[in-house]
Amino acid sequence: MLTKFVVVLGSVMSGLGKGVTSSSILKILDLYGYNVLPVKFDGYLNYDCGTMNPYRHGEVFVLDDKSEVDMDFGTYERFLDKDLTGESSITGGKLFSEIIEKERRGEFLGQDVQIIPHLSEMIIKKLENLGKSKRADVIVIEVGGTVGDIENSYFIETMRQLALKHKTVFIDVTYVPELSVVGEQKTKPTQNAFRNIMALGIAPDFIICRSERALSENVRSKLALYTNVNKNRVVDNHDLDTVYEVPLSLLRQGVDKELLKLLDLKKSKINKKKLALYEEKVNRIISDGNRYIRVGIVGKYVDLKDSYVSVKEALLHAGVKSEVNINIDWIESETLEHSDPNSVLDKLDAIIVPGGFGKRGIEGMINAIKYAREKKVPFLGLCLGMQLMAIEYARNVCGIKNADSTEFDPKTKKNVIDIIPEQIGVKYGGTMRLGAWKCKIANKDTIAYRAYRKTVVSERHRHRYELNNKFLGDLKKKGLVVSGTTMDGKLTEMIEWKDSFGIGTQAHPELKSRLEKPAPLFVSLLEAAKESL
Ligand code: GLN
Repeated sequence: MLTKFVVVLGSVMSGLGKGVTSSSILKILDLYGYNVLPVKFDGYLNYDCGTMNPYRHGEVFVLDDKSEVDMDFGTYERFLDKDLTGESSITGGKLFSEIIEKERRGEFLGQDVQIIPHLSEMIIKKLENLGKSKRADVIVIEVGGTVGDIENSYFIETMRQLALKHKTVFIDVTYVPELSVVGEQKTKPTQNAFRNIMALGIAPDFIICRSERALSENVRSKLALYTNVNKNRVVDNHDLDTVYEVPLSLLRQGVDKELLKLLDLKKSKINKKKLALYEEKVNRIISDGNRYIRVGIVGKYVDLKDSYVSVKEALLHAGVKSEVNINIDWIESETLEHSDPNSVLDKLDAIIVPGGFGKRGIEGMINAIKYAREKKVPFLGLCLGMQLMAIEYARNVCGIKNADSTEFDPKTKKNVIDIIPEQIGVKYGGTMRLGAWKCKIANKDTIAYRAYRKTVVSERHRHRYELNNKFLGDLKKKGLVVSGTTMDGKLTEMIEWKDSFGIGTQAHPELKSRLEKPAPLFVSLLEAAKESL
């Protein structure tokens, strides 16, 4: 079957959750048994997200194949429960570098190379090839940014051309504001935005309206009237308790039927069993009857919650499995450098130190780890969190006073954490130890084995530093457990405390956590927290 396409555009403003809408469409088609694939277009000229600051752009998501991609990929994978590849991420940077390389190879000899038709044709070919190689029935393309941006304009024009060749459905995700004084939902921003889209030669088939409260019938009719969109394709997407509810809300409004009709897809039966399982999980997220576990996330980018979105989601998934609700305390690690950790941390049932880069806030994280170890608060260290767990242990248990990482003090002699030899001198994009790596679990009497129930596990990585083998003997002698190594035994992948629940992993297990498959270390953390309640 030839691949069909759904194109998701955003209007009025950014931040409306196009990623969640695209993921929900993918989920619905998946529930009908179609082989679906997301593609995200990002207009920036960076090749990928690898060199972007999580404080500005949100979390850098990593795929098995080493690609560093936009955090929307986390949403796609979590909704679809499917591992994706970097081919699904199309950026301005990738497109322009590819076309210039082609030009240098002389592939356009004699022609002046232009965005239309050369770049647009290249994009369409890419989409067609991807559809073929992945045997996708439907590709859902999320266009990053908002209609009217300069960065995505050529891409949107390409989508218009795509629709001339292939069955393509357009969805506009828009915003319907409500002025609290008037108490009325306003359609004008959408009406104006719609005119802009129509001027580009695209007539959206659906409008998905983000709003605080449910869309009123009156507003739905008005939008249908002004936009030529059939009223039952003007869809409500008001704030819900959890984003995982969005596919269910779209199904309740019959989006599935309309979508299948427009795409001319014949399967008419949803997989009821799969849907029921999903519904059950979503209901568990919403249900309030469970005990609450208070988890402190001690990080340096906490002001922008998007920086740690996968950690937050992994906790939510693990909470569903462990039948607890999660309360997250976001703790800016620098505050633990000048205030007493006791007063900030004493209400917590568990502590996580997530990944991060650079020196700022490090000492505060180390203080939090010391507190967790001494007070036996269940602890999970992710990547940087594991490295700091080793430094804390070296300083406070092994008496190596100045234990440090060469990332924070390049001249330190007590380089308990040191650069991976292959990483020396490389500082540009795509050069870290990235992607899925296997880890061998040392023995069955470890937190790691009790969590994973396997002796070889695979998780995603993104780091440049590692535990220095020179100090391993000292650390082990004083009781630190090395519970996971690389398959060749050369790099330490997981460390643990002996006397209480504390585990650090060099990987980012949060990146593979799904509602259906919660990350084992997060589940174990919550189980340990439950026990100590
Ligand atoms: N900065 C550390 C390193 O590069 C940790 C990276 C991370 O937490 N992802 O090794």
